[in-house]
Amino acid sequence: MSSEEDEEYVFLCPECDESLKVNDSMKESLVDRGCVICGTSVTLKAFTKNPAGDSP
Ligand SMILES: [Zn+2]
Repeated sequence: MSSEEDEEYVFLCPECDESLKVNDSMKESLVDRGCVICGTSVTLKAFTKNPAGDSP
């Protein structure tokens, strides 16, 4: 009974070190607009798969 599977990725800003869990559309938005915190432009390299998604 969790909706955390929406948040498939972890965003880690290379500029301000902010990290947040995002879903696919948020990921695209961040790549499009830049970091919501500091405004730096980000690439797909700033995202990793959310490890909480498939822990054993
Ligand atoms: Zn940032």
